Amino acid sequence: MIQSNPSSPAFTACPLDCPDTCGAIVERDSAGRLVRLRGNKDHAWSSGSLCGKTAVYHELVNAPNRLRVPLIRRRSGFEEATWDEAIGHIVSRMDGIDGADVLALYYAGNMGLVQRKFPLRLMHALGASFHDNGVCDATAEVGFQTVMGRSVGPDLDEEGDPASCDLFVLWGSDAKRTTPHLMQRLKRLCDGGVKVHVIDIYRTETIAKVEEWGGHGLIVHPGSDAALALGLASRAFDQRAANLEFLKEHCVGAAEFRAEVTGAWPMARIAECTGLKEEQVKALSDALHAAKQPLLKAGIGFARRRNGGEAMRAIASLAATLGHSDRLFFQTGDHFGFDESPIVRPDVRTAPLLPPVSQVGLGRVLDEGAYRAAFVWGHNPAATLPDSVRIRRGLMRDDLFLVVHELFMTETAQLADVVLPATALTEHSDVFRSYGHRTLQVSWRSTKAPADQKSNVQCFSALGRALGFVGDAAFPDERQGPIFEVDEDVIVGDFLAVNRKRFTGDEYHAALKGEPVKLLPRVFADRGTPSGRIELVSEAAERAGAPRVATYLPDDGAGMRGTFQLISAPSSATHNSTYLHVPRHRERLGIPLAHLHPADAKVAGIEDGGGVRVSSEFGAITLTARLDEDLPRKTVRIDGFLNESLVPEGIGVNALTSPEVSDLGGGNVLYSNRVEIEAAATPTPSE
Ligand code: SF4
Repeated sequence: MIQSNPSSPAFTACPLDCPDTCGAIVERDSAGRLVRLRGNKDHAWSSGSLCGKTAVYHELVNAPNRLRVPLIRRRSGFEEATWDEAIGHIVSRMDGIDGADVLALYYAGNMGLVQRKFPLRLMHALGASFHDNGVCDATAEVGFQTVMGRSVGPDLDEEGDPASCDLFVLWGSDAKRTTPHLMQRLKRLCDGGVKVHVIDIYRTETIAKVEEWGGHGLIVHPGSDAALALGLASRAFDQRAANLEFLKEHCVGAAEFRAEVTGAWPMARIAECTGLKEEQVKALSDALHAAKQPLLKAGIGFARRRNGGEAMRAIASLAATLGHSDRLFFQTGDHFGFDESPIVRPDVRTAPLLPPVSQVGLGRVLDEGAYRAAFVWGHNPAATLPDSVRIRRGLMRDDLFLVVHELFMTETAQLADVVLPATALTEHSDVFRSYGHRTLQVSWRSTKAPADQKSNVQCFSALGRALGFVGDAAFPDERQGPIFEVDEDVIVGDFLAVNRKRFTGDEYHAALKGEPVKLLPRVFADRGTPSGRIELVSEAAERAGAPRVATYLPDDGAGMRGTFQLISAPSSATHNSTYLHVPRHRERLGIPLAHLHPADAKVAGIEDGGGVRVSSEFGAITLTARLDEDLPRKTVRIDGFLNESLVPEGIGVNALTSPEVSDLGGGNVLYSNRVEIEAAATPTPSE
């Protein structure tokens, strides 16, 4: 279905990797081009507002430097080609490459289920190898699930209201930068007299705002979250605030957990480990004990460290101790419970599926010569993955054939053998479901692509046909039907039809029209843990080498020797690396900065606005110093993706970061990294 009449409203949703997944209305000109997106007031969570990144999304879509035609790397550099030439080139280069030697590399450039997941259909047909989810929320998710089972928590939209919440604890989440629409709810709670506590490792913009509204910020030592959570659980038992009835009825291992924490966490130890004042711990503890309807929202970023899985386990164990497990919110799309097989079609796979490769450790794997071809979509691994010097070296191997489907000439596209131009949000059809709230939206194609771009579905189905995956010879099982002779609108329709039982009749028809639809909560028979109950003791975790109960182990810094803690914070100016190709966002991002505490800068002889060389075992970058009294001592904060053209070394923050993995889930350890700083010549501010 194409929403082709410019005078009728066309609906869409923000495609960025952001839990708000805001609803939007598409404004088009008479030629069918995108004029701008504006917020859809009928969207339950975003209520008509878009953040500054997506309010100017048209500048990204209409950017003159968008990839317009396929490019093939020749001896002299990239040459423009037709789609037929590019696909023919790919087919000839893929000749003789075994499926297991093909790596599928995708991430979150576009969060639409159809465009993001359809290329997996070709990867399955090829018998390709996949990577794990280590670059995203793997650690937090496994930590949460070890205790709680399924990641299905409260509906923040409804429960985060003064009428249904008497305490809000936001743990390890800079909402102002990563979940902007939560901020208005936090303000409403503060205005309504509800206590709001925000826990983080530096004074974030979220903490500054919440304090302005009367809430409390708690700055803890990096990596001490488990110490705080276990200390609070210990105090709950000591002060008869633990919900013993809940523990008995719903939890496994409550007695063992209680024995483990009791006596282990005197106030002085909590304060020493976390850096909090004793009265701050007491105030938070008292607030948790007094609350009848608290909401706890645990972020994802704080768990990206060596002890992050145990930190999330400890927070989940604290929630259970207080009898408020079902009031602990963790970002997930699990509550939708959708069957994605109409998109992915895993049934077309005939080759065995090998264990996924670690995305965090991919640099070493590629550098050591693994794989002969890689297909990349919605991802910029050369900038996004840790240890990016080695990632780039691996992707540049002469014996690795690299195909990238992209909007812009990203750092990864620059290394490719073939670059294929991709459509943007309103130029294709898709389905969006949030991992922060419960609203779903279908986004039918409503604008024309400016040149010869193809959607992921169009691109990868054309590749599938050209690679010979057509007809009975390729798919002898007649139930498999057409695999690559497909239309993306039909896939959207099939997806909705297969998941029809999740909708009421009215919701289904509203979804088909592209309207935002908030689905009812999913009902589960049990919690999804091995025991079916909340597991304060986990034998599965123990078998996997983790402690039986949530445990505080100091962060070992992933073996790095630097004396400064690197904080890779989210950026307020960009969302993913494609934004660096749009002048307005590049301008907002400004020159690449390293934020330092003034006392640390003084010791190192670094001045505000002067140069600072930040280095680790993995690489070094030279940035401009910005002195910031709100940062803890011995930390260096670098925000988001850097404009690499303004970094003398021509590479971003991931040149510094470690490919080591976390304690649970094989996640990244971005917040465990250690670096050194030294004064350097000020980088020249010109592109
Ligand atoms: S980035 Fe997030 S807050 Fe901004 S428009 Fe997209 S979903 Fe909404």
